[in-house]
Amino acid sequence: MQKFIYKLYKFMYGRYGIDELYKAGLVLCIILSIINIFINTRILTLIELLLIVIIIYRTLSKNITKRRHENNIYLKQKRKIKNKIILIKRKWQDRNTHIYKKCPKCKKVLRLPLKKGKHTCKCPICNNKFEVKCRRGEKIEVEVIKRKK
Ligand SMILES: [Zn+2]
Repeated sequence: MQKFIYKLYKFMYGRYGIDELYKAGLVLCIILSIINIFINTRILTLIELLLIVIIIYRTLSKNITKRRHENNIYLKQKRKIKNKIILIKRKWQDRNTHIYKKCPKCKKVLRLPLKKGKHTCKCPICNNKFEVKCRRGEKIEVEVIKRKK
């Protein structure tokens, strides 16, 4: 048994191995397999096989830099989607008390209190001042009145 483990260790030495993209690919493969139980199409089977080949290729690859780069791209996209979901959740939770608006200059999303009338806001990131109009506590208009560099 120890001989087998040693051989496996020797085989995997210098190879990329498992990462987050591997796990995501595996989960996707399992989901596709479950869907394929019900609809049973060759296209889905082919996609599954292709996915398995890609997963195995990535795990056994010796080009670690490229595999790490692919994983980083995946993690970046995952983070973006996760942040969007969090923002949607927060917008829904604060819908009666706050409004979320993008800064016209740096495009950072700001959480502003929902007050009727005109208000001047200052972006904490870029110090840009802009005016916010709030009518009937629902509709918000954003106008830039001053820009700083
Ligand atoms: Zn800003």
